[in-house]
Amino acid sequence: MEHSQPPSTQQQDKLQDSFGRTVEYVRLSVTDKCNMRCFYCMPEGFKGFEEPENWLTFDEIERVIAAFAQLGVSRVRLTGGEPLVRKNLPELAGRLAALDGLEDLSLSTNAALLNRYATDIKQAGVSRINVSLDSLKADRFKEITGNGKLEEVLAGLAAAKEAGLSPVKINTVAMKGVNDDEFIDLVNYCAEMGFTLRFIETMPVGSTGRNASGNYLDLQKVIRTLSDTFDLIPGMVPGGGPARYYRVRDNDLHIGFITPISQHFCETCNRVRISVDGALYLCLGDEHKVELRPLLRQGISDAGLAEVLESSMSLKPEHHVFKESPDRVIRFMSMTGG
Ligand code: SAM
Ligand code: SF4
Repeated sequence: MEHSQPPSTQQQDKLQDSFGRTVEYVRLSVTDKCNMRCFYCMPEGFKGFEEPENWLTFDEIERVIAAFAQLGVSRVRLTGGEPLVRKNLPELAGRLAALDGLEDLSLSTNAALLNRYATDIKQAGVSRINVSLDSLKADRFKEITGNGKLEEVLAGLAAAKEAGLSPVKINTVAMKGVNDDEFIDLVNYCAEMGFTLRFIETMPVGSTGRNASGNYLDLQKVIRTLSDTFDLIPGMVPGGGPARYYRVRDNDLHIGFITPISQHFCETCNRVRISVDGALYLCLGDEHKVELRPLLRQGISDAGLAEVLESSMSLKPEHHVFKESPDRVIRFMSMTGG
């Protein structure tokens, strides 16, 4: 008698949304707290943080990410808030890095605590990091970040390099009248350190993001200005996400431009976000969400959880409406991690 093949345990379903996009990337906010207060992200003196009993525990996070991995998600980025303020983050990173199907674990950080944790997170399985850095002038850096100390961040970046985290991508929010006189210095710093530099347009996420739209800078203009100084060749960077990259001729430096406002990239969006309290957000530019925490705490089965994740894809909108409806997103960027 002929035996039919058993179903392969390796076989993975794909998470498809209503517009034919496949979701294979999760941004996981492990905390909504932060040791900085970047003015475009979190309000000064903000205290309305999620209660600890509402934070997903490491067991719950592991379960949700394992369920996503079974459905084809291969990349996870730990973010926040500032992820390094979550206690025992390297332990969580190690648990996630060990999950079947997860190929790429990365971290977004402001790097203030990176000097302390770079080696631990690298050993835990985080391969690459993105670091926010909007200014190389200590006074200005402090003003932008509320209380940030530039020297701690630069020490954190040096430690990341030393620990072998690679690539290190620097994220700079490009802001008119705030840091637009420093772009050439930032290019030179990144070239010297062997980092990749990415400029980001300010987004109207939360009242803070909307208030910062007065500083909005169209990156198409920044590309033209930088071209006056550097010979920029259109290029690609593996895992580059939504950034459009240029390479500086005769130099290994890559510069990326993330242009959610002047040229959105929603048609290739492959990601969803999870907040610290376990809400699954389908779009950075919308408030659609599915609350996973109550389901986990009511004992949902693995099959039930997979079904919820699959069906939630239908809530993913075709594109954000930052331009048409800049008031739509109430939550701060620190809640879903950018
Ligand atoms: N604390 C970490 C950090 O700063 O990298 C991770 C979380 S932070 C919310 C992630 C990214 O969002 C940072 O690169 C930050 O610059 C960016 N961001 C925050 N608010 C923004 C806004 N209104 N517009 C554009 N980018 C923003
Ligand atoms: Fe904190 Fe990052 Fe937001 Fe700055 S951008 S306040 S570092 S979460």
